Amino acid sequence: MKAKMATMSAAIWLAAVGVTGCGAAGGPEAKGAADVAVRALTNETQTSSIATSTPAEGSNATVTPGGQAGNPAAAESQPYPVVNTHVPPKVYGMRKFPYPYDAMLAISSDADSETLRKFNLVHEFINTTQMTPLGKGLGLDFADSFFMYNGDNLPGYVDIHHEPMSDELSWFKGVSNQPYAAAVLNHYIHVGWIDTMHTFGDFSERNQNETLFSRKLAIQAIDALKADGDYLTVWTDHGNKSNVDNFGDYGRTPFYDYQQGANPWSKYYHTDITIPYGIRFVWPDGASDQFGMSSMIYPLRLPDGREVWGFWRYTSEGFNAKGDPEWNWTPFGLDEQLSPAHLKEIEVHHDYAIVAQHLCGTTYPGVLPQPAVQALRRLAQQYYEGKILVTRTSRLLNYNVVQQYVSYRVTYEKGKAYIHILAILDPVFGAYVPTVDDVRGLTFYTSNPAETVIEIRNTAIPADLIQENRSDGVAPSIGIKWWAVDTTNYAETAPGVY
Ligand SMILES: [Zn+2]
Repeated sequence: MKAKMATMSAAIWLAAVGVTGCGAAGGPEAKGAADVAVRALTNETQTSSIATSTPAEGSNATVTPGGQAGNPAAAESQPYPVVNTHVPPKVYGMRKFPYPYDAMLAISSDADSETLRKFNLVHEFINTTQMTPLGKGLGLDFADSFFMYNGDNLPGYVDIHHEPMSDELSWFKGVSNQPYAAAVLNHYIHVGWIDTMHTFGDFSERNQNETLFSRKLAIQAIDALKADGDYLTVWTDHGNKSNVDNFGDYGRTPFYDYQQGANPWSKYYHTDITIPYGIRFVWPDGASDQFGMSSMIYPLRLPDGREVWGFWRYTSEGFNAKGDPEWNWTPFGLDEQLSPAHLKEIEVHHDYAIVAQHLCGTTYPGVLPQPAVQALRRLAQQYYEGKILVTRTSRLLNYNVVQQYVSYRVTYEKGKAYIHILAILDPVFGAYVPTVDDVRGLTFYTSNPAETVIEIRNTAIPADLIQENRSDGVAPSIGIKWWAVDTTNYAETAPGVY
């Protein structure tokens, strides 16, 4: 009753001083919090761990945000939370995504037919906020994939002006040990425009019984990456059966027998080098028509006994009459992929989405046709409205692990609540105590953010990385800040690289 009166008086006061907006809609935080079916935690350890074979359906430590969650427009118009400071704070549990977002999405673009010309056009448009040939830049966090080698002899062109396949962007020239685009690719990995290995290279051949891949090339590639301090955590399989370094789906059906990368008895074996190097997340060649998922990851045991995280990508919309996937992962399918219905779906269900693409995959002169540009603008709008957090694949996947497997404990002392992040109980790579960067974005519902402290074990997170949030309709929250988007234009040209 008291709380109700406080609301009304706050609303009346706001009206009196001429503040517009739905002042009373948000409600006082104490009331909003009491209204939701959340469990206050008292000095007990919470683990958001769930059965590893099924996608996460949340956990007992997770509160599903309600109706107006994540609408910053609505949040902006609310008065600042009214909090009774005489009442000790209560921590209710985790918010699935960083405030104010309802969903998280990454575009995972394969390096097929990539050239520096196309790569720069795409990234200047998506990553920066400058004027570009495709219009004003979107300022989104997007990272690409790349090849180390080019052993492709397929017919066709890689870019406009009948540019031959031999000019496809790769670290080394062909399958040699001579650098081709090494310097510029190294630059893009360092600045965050690349975060994914699209296997070791493009080894697609007209004759799928032949390949130019060898274990020696894998060793040379990993040595080169390490020498330049380039550590990538994401691997996506590529191409036809000549790409014997693929390994994610060996043994699933006879079709995947060509995937020899994790077979210790094969001359193409390389996961004994590649996994210890640092690959944690693997997309095994395969179709999925599920746009949003509550979790993108699943434990994937390889033929050599190693375990990594497998992950899903949305690649196609349904299946045709013959049962083949209706692939929509080129720029011509982007409008269908990022349809309003798909975007709405992940917002409503609080899902993740990883959208497989080949943004540089065509010889379309402007690289992205207008419907694709419009689709990306639609996505950007959802981001700027605070609904969908758009981020690079590696960050989404890391967050997915952390959100799903964080173990924390809440203690209360002298009117304050302390959230101790104890460990990430990663069932694949083992439990570890995270760094601050590992837990970027983790957000906890609390009745009073100002009296709630987040710590890793017993060390407080630096104040400049803490974000206090007003109620999203469920409760106020406190979180570790997500990564700031870097909109710097990092585009470079390189002599002799098309
Ligand atoms: Zn590919």
